[in-house]
Amino acid sequence: MSTIAAIATPDAPGGISVIRISGEDALKIAGRVFKSLSGKTPEDMEGYTCAYGHVVENGENIDDAVLTVFRSPKSYTGEDIAEISCHGGRYITKKILRIILKNGADLAQPGEFTKRAFLYGKLSLTQAEAVMDVISSGSETELRCAGALREGAVFRRVSSLRDRLVSILGDLAAWADFPEEDIPEVRPEALLKSLKELLSDFKKTADTYEYGRIIREGIGTVIVGKPNVGKSTLMNLLSGFQRSIVTDIAGTTRDVIEESVRVGELTLRLSDTAGIRETGDVIESMGVDIAYKRLEEADLVLVVFDSTRPLEKEDIELIERVKNKKSIAIINKIDQKRESDESLDLNKSESENLLYENKSVSGVKLNKNDMLYIYDNFIHVVELSARDGSGLEQLTCTLEKMFIDKNTEFNNGIIANERQRDCLQRSMDLVKMASETLESCEMLDAVTVLLDSACDCLMELTGEKASEKVIDDVFSRFCVGK
Ligand code: GDP
Repeated sequence: MSTIAAIATPDAPGGISVIRISGEDALKIAGRVFKSLSGKTPEDMEGYTCAYGHVVENGENIDDAVLTVFRSPKSYTGEDIAEISCHGGRYITKKILRIILKNGADLAQPGEFTKRAFLYGKLSLTQAEAVMDVISSGSETELRCAGALREGAVFRRVSSLRDRLVSILGDLAAWADFPEEDIPEVRPEALLKSLKELLSDFKKTADTYEYGRIIREGIGTVIVGKPNVGKSTLMNLLSGFQRSIVTDIAGTTRDVIEESVRVGELTLRLSDTAGIRETGDVIESMGVDIAYKRLEEADLVLVVFDSTRPLEKEDIELIERVKNKKSIAIINKIDQKRESDESLDLNKSESENLLYENKSVSGVKLNKNDMLYIYDNFIHVVELSARDGSGLEQLTCTLEKMFIDKNTEFNNGIIANERQRDCLQRSMDLVKMASETLESCEMLDAVTVLLDSACDCLMELTGEKASEKVIDDVFSRFCVGK
C-alpha cells in the first residue's frame, strides 16, 4: 500500500494544524521534509515520541514544527505514522502538505486513514463508522451514543446474535453430516423455539435504530397551524435568528423552509410549512400540499394555536389530522394574554375565567372550551410566546421527556445508521423465512441455507464479510484526513 498524507485538522485558521503521513515510507518521507533541532531523524525516533524542528524545502526553513512518530502496529492506522504539527494557517498548512506530496506521499482519500485501520484489523466496520459519529456529535447524548459504538457496543450485540445463529447452524450441520453418529436429533419444535427467541432479540436490536436516528440526525419536525398563528415567529425563536419571513398578511409563508436547530439535548430538523388553510391561490395551495405531505412524514408535529383567536374549522381539522402523530400543541402569544392582565386558568372557576375572556386585548381569543378541547386532544401542550421566548424552557423539557429515553443503555448497542439497519433487516427476514419454512414443511436443508445467508448479513454489518464496494461506500462518507 502506498504512503498517504493529508491535513487532519479543519481547513480554517487556528493555533496549530496537523498533517498526517501514514504508510511504509512515512518516516522516510518525514525525514526529507523535517529537520529536528537535535539532529535526530524520524527514522531514529521511537514510537510515541516527538521532536521540535523545522519543515524545510530546498534548504530553506518553511515553518517551525513538532514531529510526532507512531510506530507500527501501535498507531491509528496500524502503519508507521508521522504527524507534523505546524502553525495553523491555511496557506502554510497546504504548502507543507504539497511539500510532503512532492517528496513521495500520495494524497489520502476521504476516510483512508480509518479505512487502513479497519483493513489492519484495528477497528470493526461499526467502530470505524463511529469515528465519524464522534466527530459530528453535537450533544452529550449523541456523544455517548457514538462513544458506545466506538467502544464496540453494536459489534458485540450483533456478534452475539451471529453466535447464536452459528450455534443453531452447528447443530443442524452435525445432525445432517453425521446422522449415523450418536448426535441428538434436531427436534423441529426445539429449533423453532430457538429461532423465535432469536427473532425477538433481532427485533429488539432493530428497534434501537429509531432512537439512534433521532439522537443523531434529529427529529423531523413540522410546524403547522392556520395563517398568522405565529409559526414563522416560532421557527425564528427556535433558530435564534430571522429566518422565515414574518408578516401580518395571512398566507405569506408559502414554501417549506428547512433548518436544523438544537433544543436542549436534541436537534430538530424543522420545516416551517405554508399556513394550512383552504385557499384559491394556486402557489399557496401547492405549499399547502407540501405541508400536508411533510406532516405525514414527520417524526413530530408542532401544532400552533393563537391564544388571541378562537378555534376555527381549520384548527379542528388540523387536530384531527395529527391524531395519530407524535405532536405538541403550542398555544402561542401568551404575552398578549398577560397583557390582558389575567390568564385563563383551567383550575379556576368558570366565573373567574369569564373575567379573562372579557379582558382579552383583541376581544376574540381561545376561550375555556377551546383550551379544554386542545388539552383533551393532545398529550403534550405548551403555552408560550414565540415573540418574547417565554415558555421555551417548558417546550425543551417536553421534547426531552418525549424523545430522550434515560433508561436506554447505549453500551448495549444502538443500531447507528441505515447500512447497519439494512443488514440487520435482511438477516432478520431470512431468520423469519427459516422459521416459517420449518413450521410449514420441516425442510432442514432449506432452513440451513436461509440461516447461513442470515449469518452472512450480520457479518456484512460488522464488516467481517463485507464486500469492497460496501467498505468503499462506508469510508467515502468520511472527511479527508480522518
Ligand atoms: P404564521 O403565518 O403562522 O407564520 O405567523 P407569523 O409568525 O408570521 O406571525 C403572525 C403575526 O403574529 C406577526 O405579526 C407576529 O409578530 C405575531 N406573533 C407571532 N408570535 C407572537 C407572540 O408570541 N406574541 C405576539 N404578541 N405576537 C406574535
